[in-house]
Amino acid sequence: MSKSKHVKVVIRTRPTSDYAQDMIKFTGDRKGVHIHIPKNVEGGFINNQQENWDFRFDSILHNVSQETVYEECASSLLKGVLEGYNGTIMAYGQTGAGKTFTMTGATENYKHRGLIPRTISHVFREIGERPQLSYVVRVSYIEIYNEQMVDLLGNLPDALRLDSNLNVVEDRTGTAQVKGLTMKIATSEEEALSYLFEGETTRSIAEHQLNRNSSRSHCVFTIYLESRSRIESSEKVLFSKLNLVDLAGSERLSKTHTTGVSLREAMYINKSLTFLEQVIVALADKRRGHIPYRQSKLTNVLRDALGGNCNTLMISNIRCEADYIEETISTLRFATRMMCV
Ligand code: ADP
Ligand code: MG
Repeated sequence: MSKSKHVKVVIRTRPTSDYAQDMIKFTGDRKGVHIHIPKNVEGGFINNQQENWDFRFDSILHNVSQETVYEECASSLLKGVLEGYNGTIMAYGQTGAGKTFTMTGATENYKHRGLIPRTISHVFREIGERPQLSYVVRVSYIEIYNEQMVDLLGNLPDALRLDSNLNVVEDRTGTAQVKGLTMKIATSEEEALSYLFEGETTRSIAEHQLNRNSSRSHCVFTIYLESRSRIESSEKVLFSKLNLVDLAGSERLSKTHTTGVSLREAMYINKSLTFLEQVIVALADKRRGHIPYRQSKLTNVLRDALGGNCNTLMISNIRCEADYIEETISTLRFATRMMCV
């Protein structure tokens, strides 16, 4: 990642045997997407006037392996984190587009491990190669559901309480922290992974018992690094953290889900994704003094790892079937707004 560009935007496609090749084309340099909607297509598209769209991004990952996603996009960001810079990696897109596959992956199949297990593995490999430094690695895992923040590594009974809700507080220095959040020290890759699985289990139990739809929540797995020199006696301690975020599905309200719980959920999601966008855009505008972090739990949690010297990677997951073209355009438009940052 170049020094000057702190927000990198990449597109990842979910493989399909039903690829709408007459509608979606990727340019040879693997940075551009051209969308063409033929004139006679039935059904209401977002905008019937416009039938051609051209988008440019930092990279397009079309039919690529988990390893390629990690090596091309995430590994350089992790290097920054090891040097003391905070970072955030987010997966954005409609439900079913591959966000969870990208972030967590199919953990039962080693080849299909996602960015979180690969990052964990990379962290411990790097630490092993720096014997002159002593590291403490901690992890936390939260879920934000309808503006309610749940500690996935906390006590299971707490996570299953409907009123369970963590809050972000500011200390005297203005640093935001999640009050009471469980941070587990991990001394090995296996231990850190076990916390990821523990959080996943808590999440799925909560999903069933509290009747939550997990595609409607944001999940944030955070790795905190603390390092000090073993050789020099100076007290200098370096802190950094990396947020790995599986965002809630970005799909618009469908006509069949306009009442009750789903309406409420969709409202929360639309709002929090809009606030996220507002914060990222405001951070890019150097004249802006005020950053509207406090508008949502998500931006409050991510605030010290966005903007400034922090590196952000936004992975926008899309589907390439004709049926999803409308959502795909909407995701690419969101990603384009992030590109201008
Ligand atoms: P989301 O989290 O965005 O709702 P998922 O990650 O759950 O989407 O993906 C939906 C389905 O598609 C899952 O069964 C997942 O394994 C599969 N899938 C998504 N992306 C890929 C990919 N790049 N390669 C293979 N399978 C994928
Ligand atoms: Mg998912």
